[in-house]
Amino acid sequence: MKIIDAHLHFVQEPYFNEIAKQAGHLNTEEHLRSEYKRLGFAGGIVMGNRSLDLENHQYPEMLKYCVGLDKVYLKNNNIESSLSLIEAHLQRAECCGIKLYPGYNPVYVYDKMYAPVYRLARRYNKPVAVHMGETASPDARLCYSHPLTLDNAAAENPDVRFVMCHFGNPWLADAAAVISKNKNVAVDLSGLLEGRVNIDQLFIDQSGYLDMVKAWLGYINAWDRVMFGTDWPLVNLEEYVEFIKRLVPKKYWDNVFWKNAENIYMGKC
Ligand SMILES: [Zn+2]
Repeated sequence: MKIIDAHLHFVQEPYFNEIAKQAGHLNTEEHLRSEYKRLGFAGGIVMGNRSLDLENHQYPEMLKYCVGLDKVYLKNNNIESSLSLIEAHLQRAECCGIKLYPGYNPVYVYDKMYAPVYRLARRYNKPVAVHMGETASPDARLCYSHPLTLDNAAAENPDVRFVMCHFGNPWLADAAAVISKNKNVAVDLSGLLEGRVNIDQLFIDQSGYLDMVKAWLGYINAWDRVMFGTDWPLVNLEEYVEFIKRLVPKKYWDNVFWKNAENIYMGKC
């Protein structure tokens, strides 16, 4: 089966190198390429970090990217210059969307500072992926990454396609309500684990939680909007494929593992 990884990070720096090691990987292009080949990954969508500079976002040909508005966007006092850089990214064929980082940024996604960003997304018909749910760093603020906050932005911008990253984990019921109500909100299942795991043992130890993930996915019942993603280099790719296969009914694997990412991201490049 073909696979597209709808959510990864591709930053060569010590923090990412270390989490790659803990997941049994090396944070290099060569290793990623060989793992993709071995596991049948046709490509992936990089969630951009660190910089809006165009030259900092050159990726191997199997990867497309979303331009990431992390702290760099907020710290830049000149939002106008940031917006023109974001637009320059969106004009690139290999840029297939925008990524927002509420929680890491103490700003709600419905704040007026994002209105011009949504206008750009609309103009270029490219999706806006949004970090939702728990954060990797303790100095982040969870109120901004609660999935319910995405409802406001999605309702105000019905013609913008949003992607709720990480299924808003662990606020699964709230996430399900937002996805169920707003047809312009898709979801990725990335980053639900980290490091190495024994999948059989995990489904014994965490059976209550994993039953909830399955139950809320079933409740949403929108298998044309659910995407496989890993959050590489956070997790072991092979284990994560197996993990998601156990959460998603087999008849929807083609949709979840590649077709939806092709429609939502790749088709916009
Ligand atoms: Zn991520």
